[in-house]
Order: sequence, then structure tokens, then C-alpha cells
Amino acid sequence: MQRVIEFLDSLLLRELAKGFMLTGRYLFKRKITILYPEQKTPASPRFRGLHALRRYENGEERCIACKLCEAVCPAMAITIESEVRDDGTRRTTRYDIDLTKCIFCGFCEESCPVDSIVETHHSEYHGESRGDLNFTKEMLLAVGDRYEKQIAAARERDARYR
Ligand code: SF4
Ligand code: SF4
Repeated sequence: MQRVIEFLDSLLLRELAKGFMLTGRYLFKRKITILYPEQKTPASPRFRGLHALRRYENGEERCIACKLCEAVCPAMAITIESEVRDDGTRRTTRYDIDLTKCIFCGFCEESCPVDSIVETHHSEYHGESRGDLNFTKEMLLAVGDRYEKQIAAARERDARYR
């Protein structure tokens, strides 16, 4: 009996008709797709995007090479090497984040005692060859310099809710 029903279904193109009915049901509904990149959906204020290393207003790097972010990173995406400067302060000589490993959990940001490593709202970046998504210290500082205004504003907003 089942086979007969299946045969009749295929003969009458019932599945096709069901498909058209479904399409018709959504044809005049409000569209939920947008024309990206000209149009964008709003991002949550808690969105975690591309990482950045921040500086103080005088241009000095915030990072003190404590390596807490490296230790807490569950994906082991951060690699840090450091040295003590002539003035006795410790700074990184290498700070890499392999974004192909990163799971954007935000733990690095949470653990940083000096608000140095942060995740910006920037999500439009890509790599075209092997290693392009291995962000070095220079690249991360450049992201920080570029988005410092937005980062500082987001920090102020977050502080109001604490
Ligand atoms: S966001 Fe998470 S996974 Fe990515 S670098 Fe930071 S701690 Fe590691
Ligand atoms: S970014 Fe922050 S947590 Fe990571 S090493 Fe530098 S100071 Fe420490």
C-alpha cells in the first residue's frame, strides 16, 4: 500500500506542489535577508571580534607581559615572549595570536590586569594565504591604534553596568 501511495505522490508531483506552497507562504512576508555588505545587521554590544593590543595615552604599550592571557587561553592560541627593559619594566618581545585556533571566548580579555588585550567589534577581516591569520604584536597594536576610540567608549559603557 505504501508503495502505491509513493507512486501516486510521484505521479501527481505532490512534493513539488508542497514546495511551491511553502515558497508561496513566505513570498510576501517581511524579508529577513539583507544586502551585505551594503546593509548590516546590528551587532550585540557584547560581540567579540578581532583582537587588539592597547596603548596608554602617552603611546606606551599597556601589556606588562604577565602572560595571564597566554595561560588562560583554552585554545592555546597566544604565544608570548618577553624581556626586562633597561628601566626595569617588563614588556613583550613577541605577542602572537593564531586566529585560526582562537574560539573568541574572551578569556584573554577578562584575565588581563591592565586592559591591554581586548576584542574589538571588528569582524570584517580575512586571510588569503597560510599564516595571514597569525596576528603578530605589531598587527595587534595597529588594530588597537585604529580602534582605540571605539574600544575606550565600549569600556566606559561596560563600566556603567558593573
Ligand atoms: S578569545 Fe579565547 S581562544 Fe581566543 S585568544 Fe582569547 S582566550 Fe584564546
Ligand atoms: S595582554 Fe594582559 S594578560 Fe596578556 S600578557 Fe599582556 S598584560 Fe598580561
